[in-house]
Amino acid sequence: GFNCGIVGLPNVGKSTLFNALTATQAAQAANYPFCTIEPNVGRVAVPDPRLDKLAAIAGSAKIINTQLEFVDIAGLVKGASRGEGLGNQFLGNIREVDAIVHVLRCFEDGDVTHVSGKVDPVSDAEVVETELMLADMDSLEKRLPNLEKKAKGGDKESGAEVPVVKKALDALRDGKPAREAKLTDDERAIFARLQLITAKPMMYVLNVEESSAATGNEHSARAEAFATSRGMPSVVISAAIEAEVAQLPAEDQSDYLSSLGLAETGLARVVRAGYALLDLVTFFTVGPKEARAWTVRREATAPQAAGVIHTDFEKGFIRAETIAFDDYVTLNGESGARDAGKLRLEGKEYAVKDGDVFHFRFNV
Ligand code: GDP
Repeated sequence: GFNCGIVGLPNVGKSTLFNALTATQAAQAANYPFCTIEPNVGRVAVPDPRLDKLAAIAGSAKIINTQLEFVDIAGLVKGASRGEGLGNQFLGNIREVDAIVHVLRCFEDGDVTHVSGKVDPVSDAEVVETELMLADMDSLEKRLPNLEKKAKGGDKESGAEVPVVKKALDALRDGKPAREAKLTDDERAIFARLQLITAKPMMYVLNVEESSAATGNEHSARAEAFATSRGMPSVVISAAIEAEVAQLPAEDQSDYLSSLGLAETGLARVVRAGYALLDLVTFFTVGPKEARAWTVRREATAPQAAGVIHTDFEKGFIRAETIAFDDYVTLNGESGARDAGKLRLEGKEYAVKDGDVFHFRFNV
């Protein structure tokens, strides 16, 4: 699966948010019998109204959403890049995730200490990002001399990596995240392998007090403007409300939310934003037993999609019978789509499109 690491300074509401995620996960566990529950990982269903339509047409007994994983990455403090606090462990964990969800404190609460004395999400964001940039700079600076030596000795791969490392270092020394490095298309492939923290896609979760959940507050407005100016998505939530809602039985949740002026949970918005941030694509498998959504990276091929379901499906892949979601709905299901010539036979090179309904044919 794909995952987002939750980071942020102490006392911003990370654990509160994470507890809401894991409570939601526990409530969903019946649908995902093979998923183990780990202490620092929450897997949450990605809401997708298309599944209901597919299930209604096919008469599926069950709906199974695709999931996104959230990893609680503790230990970020000022100085983490120098290995202070849980620094080294923190850096190791954050290098592993696909995207970063950065929680910013936007709630005023005299009873909750703020690490730097006052609520200022923009300054907090800058403190955290400086740590992450320093960590990237440090790892690149350690790497460069050895790479240059190998490049001089005629190693082609190292020779290609040196200019990419230098460009990333230029951006970082300029106070910019590595993702802003100016790279050619060829260099991007090399860059991706460097696993830099500040190259990962990032979004902000702006955590406001309960009474501002529907509207946001001055702090979140400022943080949102800051995020937008840097081209980053942000979502306003109240982690305290999320934690409460997650404890309620599913049938009571929407009444409670609407009493607060909210159309859906903040978690649902966080999950959707995370999914968009990762640039993922959803495909479906539909039958009488279940209608199910699955996830692949954009650009994934049909055999790779089959491999998400089972490795044997990928190894023995023959073809994918494919119906676009809109055709499936308009033509009222598989046989209607087949009769209208909208069931395509796609081969090994086919790039999965969002909303494809697949039936894989494979050798065992
Ligand atoms: P972490 O250190 O970032 O994991 O922060 P916690 O989740 O432990 O939250 C720190 C404190 O802030 C706790 O006492 C929470 O109850 C409180 N807190 C978190 N979110 C909210 C919120 O939305 N509103 C209010 N009033 N307090 C919150």
